[in-house]
Amino acid sequence: MTSDASATPVIIRMHERDNVAIVGNDGGLPAGTVLPGALVLTERVPQGHKVALSDLSAGQPVLRYGIPIGYALKAIAAGSWVHEKLLDMPAARELVNLPMATVKPAPMPALEGYTFEGYRNTDGSVGTRNILAITQTVQCVAGVTEFAVRRIKAEMLPRFAHVDDVVSLEHAYGCGVAIDAPDAIVPIRTLRNISLNPNFGGEVMVVSLGCEKLQPERLLPPGSIPLIDVRQSGDTALDVVCLQDDAHVGFMSMVESIMRQAEVHLTRLNARRRETVPASELVVGVQCGGSDAFSGVTANPAVGFCTDLLVRAGASVMFSETTEVRDGIDQLTSRASSPEVAEAMVREMAWYDAYLQRGGADRSANTTPGNKKGGLSNIVEKAMGSIVKSGTSPISGVLAPGEKLKTRGLTYTATPASDFICGTLQLAAGMNLHVFTTGRGTPYGLAEVPVIKVATRSDLARRWHDLMDVNAGTIATGEKTIEAVGWELFELMLEVASGRKKTWAEHWKLHNALVLFNPAPVT
Ligand code: CA
Repeated sequence: MTSDASATPVIIRMHERDNVAIVGNDGGLPAGTVLPGALVLTERVPQGHKVALSDLSAGQPVLRYGIPIGYALKAIAAGSWVHEKLLDMPAARELVNLPMATVKPAPMPALEGYTFEGYRNTDGSVGTRNILAITQTVQCVAGVTEFAVRRIKAEMLPRFAHVDDVVSLEHAYGCGVAIDAPDAIVPIRTLRNISLNPNFGGEVMVVSLGCEKLQPERLLPPGSIPLIDVRQSGDTALDVVCLQDDAHVGFMSMVESIMRQAEVHLTRLNARRRETVPASELVVGVQCGGSDAFSGVTANPAVGFCTDLLVRAGASVMFSETTEVRDGIDQLTSRASSPEVAEAMVREMAWYDAYLQRGGADRSANTTPGNKKGGLSNIVEKAMGSIVKSGTSPISGVLAPGEKLKTRGLTYTATPASDFICGTLQLAAGMNLHVFTTGRGTPYGLAEVPVIKVATRSDLARRWHDLMDVNAGTIATGEKTIEAVGWELFELMLEVASGRKKTWAEHWKLHNALVLFNPAPVT
């Protein structure tokens, strides 16, 4: 990493009460650097890490974002590097006596006239891509399905110019699991709802093994696919290719059966065309991964500003990642649009606390070595930077893991923070566009929806110039405002949703696996 220590020292303080600020300069700043305000660094401080703005006594709260992110374990002199080993983490806020729906933000003016070109589905939802997705009941069929998909793409897809892709919805669930355990509802409804994602046009086809616990009728019971029920006028039978069917003699019989069924769906998908729809049809999932101390300064605030724009345009936005918002629970319950929404949020947090406790862990299990290297001392500091992705709008809904979104506006969609699991659960909720902020850098992508990646630092955006779609690092250097980057992201969303622009992950076909959240036992 090159140092620009010869340039003007930049330190970033988030709140007037803060007694620490982070170093903004690429490469950090050396000992002896005179900071704005004449404070002198007593030691080298890496980029994104905290410097004490005043002498801190042992036990004194260390304030960032105006709240205690920890307590000094010993006296820390002004100008010193305040790293995670010097901080004692505060206990998690108990889930009692929280402010419930106490904040009533002034309504923001509606944002009208913004549109994109999308695929309107008969259930009213809108896709941003036109994809044939092949649902699987069980991991056993993944290899056969993937073999068939390779042939479909090579031999058939070129004839269907209006279909963007063919995706096999591979997962590790379906058998060898305690399928009647209460929490099995989570992976099952996740798979069901992913099959119904707006980007798949209501064309549900299933590949089943035959003997698995998750039988096709259990995954997609009659009535769960209204599109198919309507189209087949009374014939509610699922389109299932069953590999153990007696009719199959030899592997190629299975493959050709999948290909034959795929052609039926491809023909219908290929007849669809994009049409102009209001921006309110966007269903955006936001999340972060590989965070650093800049995440809460640049990319996440820009996403938060864009979240407010989307809500003003009547769109749906989901924020998630329970362990990364747990420490801001009072901010969230107070912003709930009603006491019922606040109570639902507390219910989800309590469920997750118990889930972690069952596994002998707590929220502190969240931070990674990379988070710490990037300057984030603990989960409290990370959470304060993560929560800003949700903007300032009232929170009007809460979803449990794997549930499908039914309301517009800002929704807390409870998911683990794990990038792949969060993305998978947001897909199930009905996301048609994904926004992902990263500080340390991750080449994350999904095959099912476009993923717009936002870099927190210009250094990352420069090195990963063909992986990052938006550079929010310009906010730290003062080249751009949070509002300007937020608008840039909003405009890019409409371009990407319309298919006029591809994200870098789409360009390179970088796709991460679907990873189901299965809190139930395996057998
Ligand atoms: Ca994440």
